[in-house]
Parts: sequence; structure tokens; C-alpha cells
Amino acid sequence: MTVRTRIAPSPTGDPHVGTAYIALFNYAFAKSQGGQFLLRIEDTDQTRSTPESEKQILDSLRWLGLDWDEGPDVGGPHGPYRQSERGEVYAEHAHVLLNKGHAFRCFCTSERLDELRAEQMASKQTPGYDGHCLHLSEEEVQRRVNAGEPHVVRMKIPESGICKVDDLLRGTIEIDWSQVDMQVLVKADGMPTYHLANVVDDHLMEITHVIRGEEWINSAPKHQLLYEYFGWEMPVLCHMPLLRNPDKSKLSKRKNPTCITYYRDMGYLPEALLNYLGRMGWSMPDEREKFSLEEMLADFDIKRVSLGGPIFDQEKLSWLNASWIRENLSAEQFADRLHHWLLNSEYMMKFLPMAKERVERLSDFAPMASFMFSGMLNLTADDFSHKKMEAGDVKKVLQFTLWKLEQLRQWERGQIFAEIKGLSQAMGVKLGDFNHPIFVAIAGTPNSWSVMESMEILGPDMTRARLRHAVEVLGGVSKKEGKRLEKEFAAL
Ligand code: GLU
Repeated sequence: MTVRTRIAPSPTGDPHVGTAYIALFNYAFAKSQGGQFLLRIEDTDQTRSTPESEKQILDSLRWLGLDWDEGPDVGGPHGPYRQSERGEVYAEHAHVLLNKGHAFRCFCTSERLDELRAEQMASKQTPGYDGHCLHLSEEEVQRRVNAGEPHVVRMKIPESGICKVDDLLRGTIEIDWSQVDMQVLVKADGMPTYHLANVVDDHLMEITHVIRGEEWINSAPKHQLLYEYFGWEMPVLCHMPLLRNPDKSKLSKRKNPTCITYYRDMGYLPEALLNYLGRMGWSMPDEREKFSLEEMLADFDIKRVSLGGPIFDQEKLSWLNASWIRENLSAEQFADRLHHWLLNSEYMMKFLPMAKERVERLSDFAPMASFMFSGMLNLTADDFSHKKMEAGDVKKVLQFTLWKLEQLRQWERGQIFAEIKGLSQAMGVKLGDFNHPIFVAIAGTPNSWSVMESMEILGPDMTRARLRHAVEVLGGVSKKEGKRLEKEFAAL
């Protein structure tokens, strides 16, 4: 048997380090056994999936050196590898389940489902579908389908008993069937849900091992049942621990940069980032901290994954990165890396036209543009002092801007500007005054070129990290103050 694993990202946002982490372990598991590693795009959520996000995910994984044997861009014998192009495959399989009596059509309206949910919550029951459409007669179903009544397809679930699912790292997991919902498999618009598409594709793409984040454990009973319904052999499941912030909470962009491109732009080497991700819950037999991908493959054993939530700590990553730079790069290679990083005209062309309008001598360029090549800026509270705004208000402007930009889906200067303008109006602060601390936080000085442009170029994670850093420089926000500010923010 050839081992086949896959990474199956949903292109609904920035490329996440968690995706790189799971991709690395799938890659290592397959490659260490002479197997294959695939990339499949799970874009069944058409409202949230974007081609830009897909491109960024592919580019970031490739930057890390995790090449796939089959995928939407490289092709392969099991394509297409984008779920949005496989609609017929899922429709066919949904029919198989309906015909075998393992699934049923459900005509319940969203109002009814909302009411049901509210009732269940009020009486402290596990929310879930109550089987209202489970026993409709075939004639009634046919009549309503013919009449064009909107409906979904749900899977049947055993009414009682315990579901046992094997996990490579956790052994047998037991979940009560009563806790498992009659999952929607096909939505009213005819699109499959994650569960149907994922199981059908893993089978058709001959995936032998599913290595994914532990947030998917609760889906395992439904998936196992689907394999049984289809009469297919199930791949081996392995749920990896979730990466955590240093305060042990789940790694999230509200607390830490999570975007792979942030780490690239911050100047971490791909081999150092991979090395660090390889140490998340896993270790080499001799416990050494520094190892290359080849070394990891040579000594890989998934059983050495430990389940305590691994902490993703930028300081440790920086330490490791420094050692890669010092010990593994010659001066020439270092120069080459700098060039490939951001010291190249492709990157600089994004702001050179603005710089050209401002320099008097070429020697003015480096100090003027240094913030475009920096991580956190060296700032003090005095840098933010403003004639018209109190220090507390300055901090509020920065914190509110940070929260606003956390919600922004399309990272583009026009959108960023619209958010900031809206916020300044809502807070009753003149735009010019409002922008002052933002300039300082992002560019280190109020006398830079368009800060909206800079934020677009620097990207969401770097922008947010600098705004967060600015709030810290101004004394940070205590828990109590944070609560008060959140209320004020929500009321704007
Ligand atoms: N599309 C899912 C995700 O975004 C894949 C989960 C799985 O690996 O089954 O993580």
C-alpha cells in the first residue's frame, strides 16, 4: 500500500500557520514512508472562498518547501482537486445515500430550525435536528421535490448507542450517538457540505491517512458512518493538537500573527519556520532542537507526537531562526536571502514612486523607508504625543482601529481608508488628528507617505501587530479597561 496523505485547506482567509503545521506532518508522514502528499482545495463555501486566498495558501506552502504530488495547480490522476469543480461527483454520491435509505430530504425552514434551537437551548438540551422530516412518505417527498420546495439532504444517525472511533494518537474515542447531529450533507443550493465532500474525496483520492487538527474530532463519527454507508474502507484518522498562544489560548490572530506571509515578511527563513513547526508537539529521538526537513523525514515517527497543546512562541522561533542564519548561511547566501526576501525591486516598486517624491538625495531613502523592511518599530510614548488629543484618546484610536481592521475581510487601501474614516466620524475626531497615531504606529513618524498605502503593502498581520505594539507602548489595556472599551466600541 502506498501511503497517501493530504492537506485540504479552505481558501477563506489568510494562509494560517496552523495549515502549514498540519501540512508539514502530512508531508513528513507520507514522505518518510515513500508515499505521496496531495493538496485539495475545499471551497464548497462559495460565499467565503476566494481565488486570492487560494493563491496565497499555495504560494506560502510552496515557500516553505512542502511540495505536493497532486493538486489543483500540478494536476494528477484524481482531479479535479478543487471541490467547487466536483459538484457532479457529490450529487451522485448523495443520491446513493438517499437510495440506500441512509439519508433523507429535509424541508424544514430556517425559521423552524431557529425556533427549535432556541427551545433546545432554553431547556438545556444538546442543540440538533429533531428528525421532523425523517419519516415523510416517499410520495410526499416526491410531491414536494416536484413542486420545487427548497430542501437539504441530511444523513441518518443511530438513535442510541455509542460510536467508537480509532485515532492513531488517542486510541479509541467514544462519543454517544445522541450527541451527533443529523448532519446536512447537501445544502439547499445543491452544494455539498464539508462532511460529504471531504469523505467522498478522501475515498476517491485514495487517501490512506487523514492527519488533521483536533477541532475535527467531533466530525469523526459522522465521517466514519458515511464510510460505512458507502461500504468503503476508512482511512486511518490522526488528530493533531492545536497550536496555542503563549497564554495557552488557541492560536488566534487577535493575540498573535497567524499568517504565514507575516512570518515570511518578518524575515524568518522557511527552514527555521518548518523546523519550529516540527517541534510543535513532536521531537527528534535525541531531542535536538535544530533539524532540517530531510532530517525530520529520516527520523519521523508520528507516534512521537504528544498531545499537550504546543505553544507557538515567536521568541523561541526567533532564537531558532537566528541560529539558522548564523550557522547555515554564508555571507553570499545571506545576501541572496535578503534579496529574495524584500530587498528587491519587485517589492520596492510598491512604494518607490512615493519615496521618489520625497527624497532629496539617495541617502535619504534608507531611513525614510526603513519601516517597510522592519518588524516592530522602536517607539516610545512620547512619539505619540499630540497637541489636540489626550494620551487616553490616542490609545483608544489605536485600539479601535485595531479592532476595526481585525474584522476587515478585503485587505485593500480603499477599504482600510473607509473603515478608518467611518471610525473617526463615529468617534467625532477629525481625520487628520485620527491618522496621527496611526502614522506613528505604522511608519514611526507622522511625516510619511500615505499610511493607507503602507498598511496595504505591509499586510494585515504586520499592520495589526504594529497597532498592538503601539497600544503596548502606550501602557497597554488592562482587562477592566478592555471591557469598558469593548462596550464603547460596540456602541459606535
Ligand atoms: N477544509 C478543512 C480545513 O479547512 C479540512 C479538514 C480536514 O482535513 O478534514 O481545515
